Amino acid sequence: MIKTDRVVSTTCPYCGVGCNLQLHVKDDYIFKVTSPFDSVVNQGNLCVKGRFGYDYIYHPKRVTTPLIRKTLQKAGERTQAFDRDEWRDVTWDEALDMIADRMVEIYQRDGSKAMSVYCCAKATNEENYLMQKMYRTLFRTNNVDHCTRLCHAGSVVALQQALGSSAMSNTSSEVIHNDVFMVVGSNTSDNHPIIALQMKAAIKKYGAKMIVIDPRRIEMVDFAEMWLPLKPGTNVPLLSAMAHVIVKEELGDLEFVKNRTEGYDDYVESLEKFTPEYAEEISGVPADDIRKAARLYAKAENAAIYWGMGISQLSHGTASALALIHLAFLTGHIGREGTGLNPLRGQNNVQGASDMGAMPFHYPGYMLVTDEKNAQKWETAWNIEPGGLNRELGLTTTEILSHAHPGGIRSLFIMGENPMMSEPNLNETRKHMQQLEFIVSQDLFINESAAFADVFLPAAPFAEKDGTFTNTDRRVQRVRQAHAPRGDSRADWEIISDLAQRIESRLGRATAKWDYSNPEEIYAEMASVVPDFAGITYERIKDVGLQYPVWDKDHPGTPFLFAESFPRGRGKFTLLDYIPSVEPVDDEYPFILTTGRLLEHWHGGTMTRHSKLNELYPEARVDIHPADAEIHGISNGMAVRLSSRRGEIVLRATVTEKTTVGLVFLPWHFHEAAANLLTIDALDPQAKIPEFKVCAVQVFPARDEDLPNPDIVVERGRY
Ligand code: SF4
Repeated sequence: MIKTDRVVSTTCPYCGVGCNLQLHVKDDYIFKVTSPFDSVVNQGNLCVKGRFGYDYIYHPKRVTTPLIRKTLQKAGERTQAFDRDEWRDVTWDEALDMIADRMVEIYQRDGSKAMSVYCCAKATNEENYLMQKMYRTLFRTNNVDHCTRLCHAGSVVALQQALGSSAMSNTSSEVIHNDVFMVVGSNTSDNHPIIALQMKAAIKKYGAKMIVIDPRRIEMVDFAEMWLPLKPGTNVPLLSAMAHVIVKEELGDLEFVKNRTEGYDDYVESLEKFTPEYAEEISGVPADDIRKAARLYAKAENAAIYWGMGISQLSHGTASALALIHLAFLTGHIGREGTGLNPLRGQNNVQGASDMGAMPFHYPGYMLVTDEKNAQKWETAWNIEPGGLNRELGLTTTEILSHAHPGGIRSLFIMGENPMMSEPNLNETRKHMQQLEFIVSQDLFINESAAFADVFLPAAPFAEKDGTFTNTDRRVQRVRQAHAPRGDSRADWEIISDLAQRIESRLGRATAKWDYSNPEEIYAEMASVVPDFAGITYERIKDVGLQYPVWDKDHPGTPFLFAESFPRGRGKFTLLDYIPSVEPVDDEYPFILTTGRLLEHWHGGTMTRHSKLNELYPEARVDIHPADAEIHGISNGMAVRLSSRRGEIVLRATVTEKTTVGLVFLPWHFHEAAANLLTIDALDPQAKIPEFKVCAVQVFPARDEDLPNPDIVVERGRY
């Protein structure tokens, strides 16, 4: 048995559940991960990623030295460099000075509108706070965003519009207090496995009833009272029909509606056309099942809604989330323990990155950048001259790339994200990346996006730094260093502090603070301005995290929100219409493609595909229903060619009843069969989130020799 040098308590770097981890360290290597049985979030349970997915930290391909491209890259002619011999090792001074020189040159030539940054939902709160501070104070731009745009932007906009707050209203473990709960567009057992465990316990031990609304027969269906297998993209008519039933059968809580909401009468009028029969025609779900589900949810004492990206990743993602929110308003299933509106956040710190202002519309604490009072508040906090901060909304991630042309965005700093895997319509994304004048990547590996960069900065992963993450139910938790960063790599917050000082001196501005000695100082600066975090200190969260808002040093935190009112006052009903998805199926492209995640992998695969997790699920597979497979002559394991109007990939098929007739499912972790080569770049008009969940594709048998060359698979990213 290995004798442990030390055990370090920290937080999982993968999904938004935020499980508590204990890293067992020997000779500066983590050799085992456990979790304490009394851990508040996960009661000692961990999924396969949290328990085994840490060895990417020691992967031989991890880059631990700053790098600069040997060949100067020009806008329009930019190429990808995956091989280390296309880069030269440099010192931190050389790398950071080059970045400061080039970015200041571009800024002084083209102004704020040329500058942009992708913050990172995997980095800590402190690092995201610092990165947006650097871009807002030094380059005076709000072109600051991160991958929240690609996962729950529709939910965020809808919740802000209807309630004035966009986080989960309740704590996920409260599911055991639900009599009924709905799981909508969330493959919970793959994407939030520990919350799925809690849901199963709520059903088996406490008698709760679950309604699953999902186009696929996901594992949660096995535990459900009802499954409504809707056609992808038909949430609005289905959910509005449930509202129609609740109103017509007088199942709602009219007291709640009267006291806590506005816009009810007009909303009810707009529901007239959303009969269950109308919804059946569009969604394919039988009208009687819609009625039954509406009654089950509305009549429950305590009912809650949990949802995932099946709601938000649509060109009408905001409307889909609003349709869910309306159900809670109608029934009063909000503002109490065991109720609520709960968008399950994807990445470990996507909630925190959003809270820290890593978005084009908000400063930290969701303070709108267009509001004069907010700008003045941050000018004071950051010691910026009055009127110095930019009052205009910035560009979102997808807009940043589509504005990559002369006169638009010229410089992009990518902290830990991978747009060349995560953006829709990757062939178009590639063209945009090529147009940029200067790119910096701060990451662990030369992934598909880093390969486009001019400078690569080696960052430290979660186990090599201190800070905080905020999980899906608003709990701010400690991240702790288990051992020193490998090689010359540094924590993101240290890199940003160093770079900001170099940029500041070149600009002749010496205003905001950058010389932090630890992340705790950064957190304290942010919490001194944002009231939600005023009562959170590192000392208070040393053992157990606190759920914000935490108004002062004596406040115990807030497990559920909206007991008395909503942040905007009354909850607002919005009139909705059914808008079909942008690309319908037709004779040429007869299948709907929907995309999502797998239990064994994470997002663009930068971490999990450099981990032993990759051995558990080493290759991309497309799920196809047996009836469709038979018609098209496809057998289990056969190579198939999957094409959309934007691109094509070849991979093996899994013939399974997990998917439904006419629907194929593709995970998006695999660069050699990148799902986003096929997806459409249609955006929700308000949230600007792409329609990752619906596009039209064709599927044909292919030959084994058409499959990606295994050497290319190993060499990542050369699709
Ligand atoms: Fe980590 Fe999420 Fe798994 Fe928990 S459920 S161990 S947070 S990946």
